[in-house]
Amino acid sequence: MTTQENSNVIVNQAEKSRLNEVDFDNLTFGNIFSDHMFECDYKDGKWQTPTIKPYGPLLISPGAKVFHYGQAVFEGMKAFKDEAGDVFLFRPEKNFERINKSSKRMAIPEFPKNFFFEGLNTLLDLDKEWVRPGADSSLYIRPFVIATQVGVSASPANEYKFMILMSPVQAYYNKDVKVIIAQEYSRSADGGVGAAKAAGNYGAQFYPTNLAKEKGYDQVIWTDSNEHKYLEEAGTMNVFFRINDTLITAPTSDRILDGVTRDSVLAIAKRDGIKTDVKKLTVDELLAAYKDGSLKEIFGSGTAAVISPVCSFSYNDIDYDLVKPEDSYFTRFKKELKDIQYNRAEDTFGWRVKI
Ligand SMILES: *Cc1c(COP(=O)(O)O)cnc(C)c1O
Repeated sequence: MTTQENSNVIVNQAEKSRLNEVDFDNLTFGNIFSDHMFECDYKDGKWQTPTIKPYGPLLISPGAKVFHYGQAVFEGMKAFKDEAGDVFLFRPEKNFERINKSSKRMAIPEFPKNFFFEGLNTLLDLDKEWVRPGADSSLYIRPFVIATQVGVSASPANEYKFMILMSPVQAYYNKDVKVIIAQEYSRSADGGVGAAKAAGNYGAQFYPTNLAKEKGYDQVIWTDSNEHKYLEEAGTMNVFFRINDTLITAPTSDRILDGVTRDSVLAIAKRDGIKTDVKKLTVDELLAAYKDGSLKEIFGSGTAAVISPVCSFSYNDIDYDLVKPEDSYFTRFKKELKDIQYNRAEDTFGWRVKI
């Protein structure tokens, strides 16, 4: 980890806010950005003084390595506003640690902690009006790093740009998701980059997901790349199965992203006395549980949608429909998580961080 002195972010404030140009009741996820953005360049072996400036386009050479070799990682986190108007982050340390873990895997220099938090806090302070009140609104925060060194030689760059953008979002409409279990394509492989939030992981997922969509499904449940036998993730979310009253999810590995929401669901379940089992669940076990009626629920977990219920899954061209139980874990965990995030419940874990 690079140890550096104080960052003392330079702030160039926007002359005029764009707040009143935004229709906050009709937002499409992540395509409007707040007034300011954070930018910090890496060159000559160190991260330079960061700046916060008005959100706007970048001038980058088309020869920059990110365009040729995809050396890029990102994060996704959110800020929430409570009824008193205070703004909170949810477990931001986790996102900070994870972006450096992802960077390391992609041969990108790690980012100093004080730069990250000073930048994020200053940015949120400037743009706090962009965190809209109400439990259906939040501000999605997108830190990312790209290789900016010019040159198409295939080697890690020696120049990078670390940025943070912020985008106001509404609650994900909880459309019941139809999924198909992967039998051909894979999201990640042993020894690969599946555990990193590398940009290319998403790019590589688009084609098989499009094929699933053409067949009428919304997402793919990824299985292991070796045998397509173990259930691993759902689209860009971690996945949970409720068999009887036990909550099952796959153990993290170099194929599985260590999700903050996944970890939080497991912690809440343990606190509330719900049985959890972190294990490799096979497709055969899933089908058997469906057939004997013990499979009650499947849901995905991730920052963007929080918890996303699956209403049916397909395997070998057969659709298996799930009936949402009245005491659904999906509803329960979604509420418990949101209550902590929006400061409506006691935070026994110390996850909320006030800005
Ligand atoms: C980001 C991500 C998740 C969810 O992680 P959270 O920290 O809960 O947002 C799950 N799977 C993949 C592949 C991801 O990229």
